[in-house]
Amino acid sequence: MTYSTDREAKDLLIEVGRLMHESGLNRGTDGNFSCLVDEGKHLWTTCSGSAKGLLRDSDLVKTDLDGNVIEGDAKPSSELKIHLCVYRKNPLARAAVHAHTVGATALASAGVGLTEPLLPPVTLQLGRVYVAPYAMTGTQALADSIEPYVAENNAVLLANHGALTWGKDLWQAFTRMETLEQCAQIYLQVRALGTPQYLTAEQEQALHDYGVRLGNFAK
Ligand code: 13P
Ligand code: ZN
Repeated sequence: MTYSTDREAKDLLIEVGRLMHESGLNRGTDGNFSCLVDEGKHLWTTCSGSAKGLLRDSDLVKTDLDGNVIEGDAKPSSELKIHLCVYRKNPLARAAVHAHTVGATALASAGVGLTEPLLPPVTLQLGRVYVAPYAMTGTQALADSIEPYVAENNAVLLANHGALTWGKDLWQAFTRMETLEQCAQIYLQVRALGTPQYLTAEQEQALHDYGVRLGNFAK
């Protein structure tokens, strides 16, 4: 699969920001998005503090994989370190989306992950969605907190903060955020109704194997 050109990457970041805002997945200056370019040597990210539903070219910054700015005048996202962690740890990831979606952030703030086999889209597309232990926003400690969950899954919850998804391109990272939020909302309803009826280990394995065949997981 080829990487996006600079122009394609910037257009996709702007478009995903608009869709995240219009769908209610993101609000105000919350969240941040990034995608790899230049054969994975560089990335484009949203700048810190920008209104993510109204992004313009001047709100986008190109960096190397150490976070050094190589193009753009603005300051890169304060959460660039979690994006860099994803690219370092998961070879299938070429784009990442961070947001404070309501359902997923509620779960993250209650310390409740989507780690048990209940909803096929979670097992098939996201893997096991753990809650990474709390760490301060914008720190290396936050990136370190997600590291154990990145290689084998496609989403993680940040305790008392929000969610992060990734994928082969920005569309996949975005649709995985949509799926995560939808499943978080369903899970909250299931919990309100009573005891979740979990799938068996065999059923979970069959879904995971299908996810591997679809290219969602390395193994
Ligand atoms: P930035 O605007 O710096 O990317 O920060 C938004 C955010 O969600 C912090 O966690
Ligand atoms: Zn955040």
